[in-house]
Amino acid sequence: MNLYTALRAGFPADLDRTAIDADGALYSWRDLERGSAMLANWLDRLDLPAGSRVAVHVDKSVENLILYLAVLRAGFVYLPLNPAYHAAELEHFIGDAAPAVVVCASRNFGWVSKLAFQRGVRWVFTLDDDRSGTLLQRAAQMGDQHQPAPRAAGDLAAILYTSGTTGRSKGAMLSHGNLLANAQTLKTFWDWRPDDVLLHALPIFHVHGLFVASHGALLNGSPMLWFNRFDAASVARRLPEATVFMGVPTLYVRLLQEPMLDCRRMRLFISGSAPLLIETWREWQARTGHLILERYGMSETLMLTSNPCRPEDGERIGGTVGPALPGVGLRIVGDDGSPCGAGEIGHVQVRGPSVFGGYWQMPEKTAEEFTADGWFRTGDVGRLDERGYLTLIGRSKDLIISGGFNVYPAEVEGFLNELPGVGESAVIGVPHPDLGEAVVAVVTPRGQPEPEALIAALKARIAGFKVPKRILVAPELPRNAMGKVQKKLLREQHAGLFA
Ligand code: ATP
Ligand code: MG
Repeated sequence: MNLYTALRAGFPADLDRTAIDADGALYSWRDLERGSAMLANWLDRLDLPAGSRVAVHVDKSVENLILYLAVLRAGFVYLPLNPAYHAAELEHFIGDAAPAVVVCASRNFGWVSKLAFQRGVRWVFTLDDDRSGTLLQRAAQMGDQHQPAPRAAGDLAAILYTSGTTGRSKGAMLSHGNLLANAQTLKTFWDWRPDDVLLHALPIFHVHGLFVASHGALLNGSPMLWFNRFDAASVARRLPEATVFMGVPTLYVRLLQEPMLDCRRMRLFISGSAPLLIETWREWQARTGHLILERYGMSETLMLTSNPCRPEDGERIGGTVGPALPGVGLRIVGDDGSPCGAGEIGHVQVRGPSVFGGYWQMPEKTAEEFTADGWFRTGDVGRLDERGYLTLIGRSKDLIISGGFNVYPAEVEGFLNELPGVGESAVIGVPHPDLGEAVVAVVTPRGQPEPEALIAALKARIAGFKVPKRILVAPELPRNAMGKVQKKLLREQHAGLFA
């Protein structure tokens, strides 16, 4: 069972219909089928050892998606890398993953090829977002028929490096079976329909855009309105044609700045990858009448929980990430591993068909992250309510222990965000001579926040040990490409505050 074969089975019978509309450049289903065949034939020609990694460091384009399909088809291992990564980062990933092939943007060919060849990579090709580059030139000479390589469910399909929010990125090894199981679950749970049209504006070097979004549309044979980069005005212009939209929270925040959000065909807005502020959720409902469906997942496990889509599956509740998806086991445990009751905060652990096989070349780390009875430790902290809905509280690595008391940053952030003058906030722990760690908040202004007044207001609302010792105002919070706040960076920046 090759994942490509399963996705291909979802294509419509009429292959001449439009599969992707990339700002007016139309790609038919046949283009995806033929293009991926030609690229797969080229990869086969290179005579790569079985299990070879194909590392892809390019700007988003439809050809990039076709290359992904080609790597699956040929049975190699797809390894996407954020094109914003510079030499030091790429050095690490290429050194770690030892790919046989590297594909990069032609503007980066000089330094990427040097670095790659020095590390024993055999082939370096270029691919640009204007349909040029050496990779397509080579593939153009290849036949357009290709028999997908037979693969077992457990065979490796992709290595996705985690976002590096809590430490150095780790390569999560995902199999054909992991990816297909999750895609099929989401197809049913999100009620994909024959007339669906997906607006795709996410990067495709990450789980959200590459798997959740693209697999959804491909498996359902649904056309995509494709954007190589997110631009709120252009996305808003095509919104009236779409029925499904997936975004990270920042995309929703930016779309809310648009004067016109015409959702006449829209059926489903989905958010994930980072916490969606309840204010954004409410504002979206007020503007569009739609309740954003929030879901939760990670590189290592794919999607784990989701708010319901169909009314018969339950209510959609803002501020929660919903119940475990069908087939996913999810439990909350205390520090000692004992089960938590409803409403109790603890560590989120999961198991199921989409949970990865392990971290690339990190057997000890892999072993550490699984419990003796086979559950994966997500590193996230949360609680389940009586109905089984999960609310995420934060990451265990972000938990602050101040004077012996546990402080959950998300709780303090929730109170801070409600106060006048505050846009967003990030609460962190920094070294403190007496307390071990002191609670510190960084807030973005919405008006004129007065740190002393904010501290006083918090003291009236929450226990003293949770109130930040210092509140710093910054024009914005540092975020990565997926909209995740880089708390590690904030902790480093403010490490000397109480020294
Ligand atoms: P690293 O593991 O390298 O530190 P990362 O955990 O950010 O980085 P990803 O695998 O991209 O890397 O992200 C998964 C994490 O994203 C989850 O563990 C969770 O903390 C967060 N996340 C995903 N969806 C949501 C959501 N809906 N709400 C809050 N957090 C979310
Ligand atoms: Mg992680």
